[in-house]
Amino acid sequence: MTAGHGHDGPFIPVEQYQSAILAAITPLPPVSVTLADAEGCVLAEDVTAAISLPSFDNSGMDGYAVHAKDTISSSERAPTTLQVTSEIAAGDTDTYRISPGTASKIMTGARMPDGADAVVQVESTDGGTDRVQVYRPVEPGNAVRYAGGDAAEGETLLSAGVRMRPMQIAVAASAGRRAVMVRPRPRVVVLSTGNELTEPGTPLVPGQIWDSNSYMLAAAAREAGALARRRSGVPDDPAGMLPALEEQLDGADLLITTGGVSMGGEHDVVKAALQKLGTVAFRKVAMQPGMPQGFGTIGEKRVPIFTLPGNPVSAYVSFQLFVRPALAALQGAADLALPAARATLTASVRSPGGRRSYLRGVLDGDQVTPLSGQGSHQIAALGRANALIIVPEQDTSLPEGRAVDVLVLPLAAGQEHPPVHGWRRLRHA
Ligand code: AMP
Ligand code: MG
Repeated sequence: MTAGHGHDGPFIPVEQYQSAILAAITPLPPVSVTLADAEGCVLAEDVTAAISLPSFDNSGMDGYAVHAKDTISSSERAPTTLQVTSEIAAGDTDTYRISPGTASKIMTGARMPDGADAVVQVESTDGGTDRVQVYRPVEPGNAVRYAGGDAAEGETLLSAGVRMRPMQIAVAASAGRRAVMVRPRPRVVVLSTGNELTEPGTPLVPGQIWDSNSYMLAAAAREAGALARRRSGVPDDPAGMLPALEEQLDGADLLITTGGVSMGGEHDVVKAALQKLGTVAFRKVAMQPGMPQGFGTIGEKRVPIFTLPGNPVSAYVSFQLFVRPALAALQGAADLALPAARATLTASVRSPGGRRSYLRGVLDGDQVTPLSGQGSHQIAALGRANALIIVPEQDTSLPEGRAVDVLVLPLAAGQEHPPVHGWRRLRHA
């Protein structure tokens, strides 16, 4: 095997390349954000309950707070009649008390009166105001939400590394937190290179294409929790390439380029420019699509830089396998990888020997259908895919009916755990 133009050494396995990248990434320093700004950010501290949750015994239903003993012989035919001595609404901070033979009308979330040990739900009564008829016996504790029944004071409710999704934001608010420490969203700059690139929406002359990568990768970075901006269509100018990259370093936590890193040409100006620095390594990763990869750092602040291939499908798959985990690591997130699932092939597939294929497919329950159009430039099939089918390095074909691992692609911003059958996390080496 000949070493490609500047891509050093033999193929390296995907996991080994992923590990090398993660080893070079340091999480961003934490910042404090209010809950209103916390969505999608990754916690950099544990959140504990400031007080027990709930903090006072309260009613779980609209009904009547009673002495359970008083209701023992209640039935529809022989109801128990209790005197109603108070009405307690949610938010009422007064202290109430009932004695045997009496009840408080009580609303969901209202503080239990002293002396009461159960709530009869309103549906089991006549709903009376001064007196109430109880049709059913209740056990002590019925429909009572005891202090500390959700969480004890000081209990850890959220752990560092968790992403603040709506549920976690609710937990932090319930724990009494106005603000939380999170890792900031990484600021990502995506640069697409190539003399052939023009902006979508502008007229094309033969030989040109519309730049899709910079839009795609900026969106993928945002989907992975980053802030992203684009610098589109950097010309293939050997002298201008490095300055064009360095110009973007200010305020960037991570750089992504596409194009200009193929295996064979003088036109591979990204590689040519970065190779001179000596801080970016170009490797051949044992995968398809996306074999030629570059990763390293650039500038005084040693900003991580990924040089992704130009073919859109290669760029996308490379992003998900390598950039996404790096973005997660910058955020201190535990969710490094795409969720994986096991599925059965509905058709046979082919793959080059010695390289792991990530074929575009449609996962439906526990079946996965490979799409036609598996070329690295075939963006149409990528647009129909919701999963990547993994064909191991040693296999050159797999028959219909074979069980395979698939990676589940994100379906929407922040949606990291789509409800597919049997998904599980892919372990990182
Ligand atoms: P390169 O890696 O520069 O040799 O590009 C490989 C292939 O990807 C070529 O067909 C390019 O035209 C195409 N390509 C490169 N950059 C982009 C881009 N930003 N959007 C769409 N296609 C691209
Ligand atoms: Mg190019």
